[in-house]
Amino acid sequence: MRSSTPVPPAVRGWCPSLAEPLASRDGWLVRLPVGCRPVSSDQWRVVATLAETRGNGLVEITRRGNLQVRGLAVRHLDRTAELLAGAGLANRNPAADGQRAVVCDPLLDIGASPDRASARREVVRRLEQLVVDLGDGLPAKWWAVVDGGGPWPVPTSSADVAVVDHGSSWQVRVAGAVVASAGDPLAILHAVAAVIRRCADAGCRARDLPGVADGWGPMRSEPVEREAWWGIRKVGDRAVAPGAPPLGVATADALHLLARVAEGPVSVRPEPGRGVLLVASGEEAADAGAAELAGTLEQLAAVGWVVSPRDPRRWVSACIGSQGCPSALVDTHALARARLADTRGRRLHISGCPKRCGAPPGVRELVATPDGLHVEEVG
Ligand code: SF4
Repeated sequence: MRSSTPVPPAVRGWCPSLAEPLASRDGWLVRLPVGCRPVSSDQWRVVATLAETRGNGLVEITRRGNLQVRGLAVRHLDRTAELLAGAGLANRNPAADGQRAVVCDPLLDIGASPDRASARREVVRRLEQLVVDLGDGLPAKWWAVVDGGGPWPVPTSSADVAVVDHGSSWQVRVAGAVVASAGDPLAILHAVAAVIRRCADAGCRARDLPGVADGWGPMRSEPVEREAWWGIRKVGDRAVAPGAPPLGVATADALHLLARVAEGPVSVRPEPGRGVLLVASGEEAADAGAAELAGTLEQLAAVGWVVSPRDPRRWVSACIGSQGCPSALVDTHALARARLADTRGRRLHISGCPKRCGAPPGVRELVATPDGLHVEEVG
């Protein structure tokens, strides 16, 4: 499968799934649409065991809080799909899987206004159902987000639809512009359903619908609080801490560690920074939860994860590059390691070719092209 000549990048227009795995340079890849939801101990263990026994031992955490198992051999694909579907991590029938298109705030159940958590969960449930009921015809890249208005937001500007809880009101954003606002979450879901219908009928992304956001102002800029937050912090009455594998790629060993952590009073949730959020459970007082999380962060640091604000690796991200992508022109991960000293507190993303998959908005970017490396300074 390895080729020394990069394959020109193409816009696929679909996302890898259990039903449609993607052939990549390091083997087959399946994406699990976790969408920042909590992953249980048993589920982490299934993913870790599959990665080490049927894949190449590496699992990526994506910018939408999904998991990607890499390096699967073709003979393992059927059994892998069976095990992952059995663990509740994905559905073998994408048409019946509303979760595939809906990403949640990882702190949906706590975050701002914890008393509204059940309403937020209900919005997620109904939105998933709308995708199943109305979504036949939606482009594969179409996605929606439910944000709880807390301190760890999911970026909404590239989402087709975002439902945001502002504490006293709910807002619907379509392709980055506010299109509806109401005090009743179920009232705004009518606006969401209308957008899903129009996108499904036209087979297009929301940004390509004519006049969808006319008459409404652009949304406020994305909160960036999570960029600055490292270490343990109280959110409501819970202790919360982030941790991330280097460049968003976790080893099976680290995932087994997460499985052990999630056996105890800690919930482990993938998050949009390509890491996880550790949330001490509600039975623990925040101080006891913080002590629990401090021990967990030490264990993650021991397996090479980024857990400290002083770690320069927190400023660098990269696509998989030549380790896994047939279109890559460079080893992006080696470049990222070599450029750590250059970041000086500014975010840098490295793309292995001009397709720039998963490049975060608004960061300095190093893009490999056939003519060499180009620096893109984004505002
Ligand atoms: S940006 Fe990276 S992952 Fe995307 S096609 Fe290019 S090399 Fe592959």
